[in-house]
Order: sequence, then C-alpha cells, then structure tokens
Amino acid sequence: MLTAFGKSGRLWRGNLHGHSTRSDGAVSPEEICTRYREAGYDFVAITDHFLPEFGFPITDTRAYRRDGFTTLLGAEVKAPSPSRNDLWHIVAVGLPEDFPPTRDGETGPALAARCAEAGAFVALAHPHCSQLTSEDGLAIEAAHAVEVYNHKATIDADRGDGLVLFDALLHAGRRIFAIAADDSHWHFPDAFCAWVMVRAEANEPQALLDALKAGAFYASTGPEIHHVALDGDELEVACSPSDSVILVGPLGLRMAKVGTGITRARLPVEAERGGWRRLIVRDAYGRRAWSNPLWLRD
Ligand SMILES: [Zn+2]
Ligand SMILES: [Zn+2]
Repeated sequence: MLTAFGKSGRLWRGNLHGHSTRSDGAVSPEEICTRYREAGYDFVAITDHFLPEFGFPITDTRAYRRDGFTTLLGAEVKAPSPSRNDLWHIVAVGLPEDFPPTRDGETGPALAARCAEAGAFVALAHPHCSQLTSEDGLAIEAAHAVEVYNHKATIDADRGDGLVLFDALLHAGRRIFAIAADDSHWHFPDAFCAWVMVRAEANEPQALLDALKAGAFYASTGPEIHHVALDGDELEVACSPSDSVILVGPLGLRMAKVGTGITRARLPVEAERGGWRRLIVRDAYGRRAWSNPLWLRD
C-alpha cells in the first residue's frame, strides 16, 4: 500500500485493459492512443483478445508513444478453463511483441505462468463476469493482481466487481494487488472510467512495469488518494473530497470515517490483529478508489 504514496517519482495514470480493431474493438490502436492521451492519461495498454480468430495479436502501439505519453504492450490471453466458464480471461501487460501463441492443451494457469516468465504483469480479469470461484483464483499462481473493477462488465453485465475474489485470495495468504480498468471496446461509451495510478520515477514502459509488479499503485474510478502513511497505530489518509474513507482487513475487520467532503482521515490499524489492511475511498457519486494491501507482521 505505502509504496504508492512514497516520496520518489510521481503518479502516472493509465488504463491496463482494452480492445482495438485488432480483435473485437471498434476503434484502431492509433485512435485509442490518441483518445486516452487527449483525455489526460499518461499511458495505455491495448490488450486485444489473444485468440486464433484474431491471429493471436500483441497489438504494437510503440509508434503511438509521444512526449508525455507511453504505451505498454499486452494482451487478454485465454485458455481453458475455470470451473464455471469455458475460458480464463487473463490480462497480461508487458508482453514482448513476439510472444508465442497459446499452445495446444495449454491451461489458464500454465499460460499465465508463461506470460509472467516473459516479463508481464498478470491480472485476473473481471472475476465476477467470469464467475470465478476462490479455487479458480488460487489456481492462477502467477497472478500479480485481481481486477477489482471492470467498467465494461459493470455497465453491460452488472458484474464488474472483483472484490469478493480479491478478499478471498488475501484470506488465503496470497500477496496480490488490485487493479481497475475500462476494458474499453468502443461500441458504446465504455472508456475513461477506471484506471490505475502508478508511482514511478519516469513515465517509461519498464519503470511502469516494475512499479506495477512491486504494487506501487492504486486503482480508481474517480477519487484521488493523495497521501497514506502509518503514524503509530493509525493510518493517516489525505484524499479528494469523499463521503467514506474505509479500512478493511481479515474476517469482518473494518473501520471507517463517513461524512461529507472528507479530505483527511485517521483510522486505527489495530496492528496487533495482524494480517492485511486495504483502504477504500468512496465519493458522493459512489465512485471508489482502492489501495493495494498493507501486510502487517505475519
Ligand atoms: Zn474478458
Ligand atoms: Zn477485455
């Protein structure tokens, strides 16, 4: 949690999951980069569906990098099979452009591991939409993150949250992070609503990728988290005006400051109870930001 709010570098805003005309999206890779850049994003990853019908695309966006705007290469890789669905949907960001196609008989866990070995940051996409169980989530040992919010799945399926699976994996002892993403396809307005804020020295692909793997980021659909620090046994938080600042942990552990226009809060960590804590900030419109977990003494 705290690495996202350190003194070094600064926060860079990016979308980690979206689709172009290289798979089933409605907009070209170049136009997508232009749109995110003009919307104020610092970086974007286009993650087309890594399937044979699209030629196993690793969409090359390097030509669309500009001063102040960069891209990461990736894909939404697919393989059989979680318990209640035919294919895993796994977002892999930071793949090489020549990443080899899915192999015959390759399973989701094996494909995720191959993505991680190739250097990618790996996230379980839209767990609710894919009906992933805790056992499914645990099977992807290579995952760095759970997509706790997927915007497209929110607006066209009402299955955009991944928080239940995220907490289940934390309870099981997994050191795993939380991302939010648009999953933009551009057939209807589904962009610019969920992102990550990544702390890195520079807005450069490798620096961003290293920071993602280190958990030096937070996820948001609106609120900004300006500052988080441990002060004794309290977590000190500064954020954009919000109606709830919430800290949750194992089992039913939770504490919150609730009100109107909250910009500062101090919440007891109760470190003696051990485990992990994660911070949620919720604004007057119901938009949320999620920190990565803070792991206390084991
Ligand atoms: Zn998907
Ligand atoms: Zn997708």
